[in-house]
Amino acid sequence: MAGHAERAHSLLSASGAHIWMNCTPSARLGEQFPDTTSEAAAEGTLAHELAEMKLRNYFYTMDFGKRKFTTAVNKLKKESLWNDEMMGYTDEYLDYIKNLALGFPSSPYVAIEKQIDLSAYVPEGFGTCDCVLISGGTIHVIDFKYGKGVPVSAEGNPQLALYALGAYEAYKILYQIERVELHIIQPRIDNFSNWGCPLSELLTFGKIVREKAELAYKGEGEFRPSTDTCRFCRAKGHCRARADENVKLAFAIGKKPPLITNEEMGEYLRIGKDVAKWLGDLQDVALADCLAGKDVPGWKAVEGRGSRDWTDMDAAFAKLQTEGINEAVLWERKPLTLAQVEKVVGKSDFATIVGDLVVKNPGKPALVEASDKREAITNKVSAAEAFGGDNENGKK
Ligand code: SF4
Repeated sequence: MAGHAERAHSLLSASGAHIWMNCTPSARLGEQFPDTTSEAAAEGTLAHELAEMKLRNYFYTMDFGKRKFTTAVNKLKKESLWNDEMMGYTDEYLDYIKNLALGFPSSPYVAIEKQIDLSAYVPEGFGTCDCVLISGGTIHVIDFKYGKGVPVSAEGNPQLALYALGAYEAYKILYQIERVELHIIQPRIDNFSNWGCPLSELLTFGKIVREKAELAYKGEGEFRPSTDTCRFCRAKGHCRARADENVKLAFAIGKKPPLITNEEMGEYLRIGKDVAKWLGDLQDVALADCLAGKDVPGWKAVEGRGSRDWTDMDAAFAKLQTEGINEAVLWERKPLTLAQVEKVVGKSDFATIVGDLVVKNPGKPALVEASDKREAITNKVSAAEAFGGDNENGKK
């Protein structure tokens, strides 16, 4: 089985394609900064290993039967980042792929953790695709995402499209491919995204990738700072193009009337999105430099406000009780949140047992970009509401 944690990364990785395709000099610029692996990424790695095992157990039962599967899972359970909820989320991944495969007229070709050679499009490019299914002239590229931050869309997703190009190159001699389908399964936030296109469209994308990759490999092309692109760039805290752009956005004041218009407000919100993020990134880099003993004129690192903790909570509580403090005062009994109960009980049992006791309260109004898929809301009373539209009883 592939070691997920040891997955090598090429300079122009598929997962970073959305960065280096938009801002071609970013890959070379970012090379000098470490690729910091967060705890969330390590947790994702563990979940990927479990997901892979489940697929192997389902599709390659002869090689990886129940016994081997159970032993491997028990080993994973000993990892410090293990969390029981991973079982449920990886089941959702498995179920999605099972349903997909069962919907094909015949058994598909299945590749799990497929090493993909991308060098026909990206210099020294390679990657590992979570799952590839081929059936009836269509390549399905499936990616498991364990993150629970931003929902990732499969539509035109450059990472998956690159995997699809690599898979096409690998299998075009064996299979007559006419179409590709990209799938993202992000179960922690209920995001199951699917998008497809004819092979010709993928190959057009391949031409664009090839041009961008050539520039990126040489560190050439234009810096194109933007919120989405800079966010995951390794150079984000040091990059001059991003700094210049944000200073320009934050401090540009023209000769305008004293009040801004709503059009300007919308425009400022759009172009200024990166300013706050950029300042946060600068703070992170400056703090790291100060801690490393480097001079950042005007700034220094200090110890933050600490917090108190028991050295031995059981001993402390025992002592308090000996001194006459009632045990009931020391503990509070709190119910789990609805989401926590759903996790413990499992989605389907939760829906069956208490689904009718759940009500969806409206969320706090939030400002998002017009491209957001949610329907717009307003406080404004409509004419129909104000002047007597139908009420619940059908009376005027
Ligand atoms: S921080 Fe932004 S502008 Fe600078 S190299 Fe990275 S992606 Fe490009």
